[in-house]
Amino acid sequence: MRSVQLVAPRQLELHEMPETRHPRSDEVLVRLRAVGIFGTDMHWYSDGGIGSLRATYPQVLGHEPAGEIAAWGPGTGNLTAGQKVVIEPTITCGQCEFCCAGRHNNCVSVIFMSSPQMPGLFRETTSIRCPKE
Ligand SMILES: [Zn+2]
Repeated sequence: MRSVQLVAPRQLELHEMPETRHPRSDEVLVRLRAVGIFGTDMHWYSDGGIGSLRATYPQVLGHEPAGEIAAWGPGTGNLTAGQKVVIEPTITCGQCEFCCAGRHNNCVSVIFMSSPQMPGLFRETTSIRCPKE
């Protein structure tokens, strides 16, 4: 699939990246339609990092996405093709004391999309875990 990748400070290029895998049981495949530019994206773009964290090139930015459901796993509930969704750009563990207390924003193992830990969403699709209802 096509993606916009940061290949050096202030240098974005259009490249191919591997296709998104089919969603697992608790995931949905989202066809991305819009992605905002967050402040952290600007730091990666302008400064090549945030504080002591340095970009790993190439890096896919984009961390405020919205799109439409294209496929889903059997454990995701009552969904429909084309349903509009937004994606929480943090991946949390779901097991630490904060996650278990419903305070996912304080997860001790949080991973941010659009960082060296995980590609961002300036791309065509992504598969992501569907929150439990
Ligand atoms: Zn957690």
